[in-house]
Amino acid sequence: MTKKCAQCGEEMHNVYPSKRYCPRCMKERANEISRAYYEKHKNDKPKPERPKRRKIYKKKSLSRCALEAYMLNMSYGNYVAQGLDKEEVDIEL
Ligand SMILES: [Zn+2]
Repeated sequence: MTKKCAQCGEEMHNVYPSKRYCPRCMKERANEISRAYYEKHKNDKPKPERPKRRKIYKKKSLSRCALEAYMLNMSYGNYVAQGLDKEEVDIEL
């Protein structure tokens, strides 16, 4: 069908009945909407940056575990059961 643009009145041919604006006005409106969005949000606080470091648990080497268990005067089984065979490490992402 043929309609007139709701903004500038330009005739539009072969358009859907629901179409209201000619391509030029559509573009203008899209620009306005994005500008309004920008204006509304430009003072928003930036999102906090995710920490670049992360803690992981790293398993100690077997010989180190054995040595530390010996130093602590406990069995290797006890040592592992208490989670002493792992250490917290900060890794950089
Ligand atoms: Zn128009």
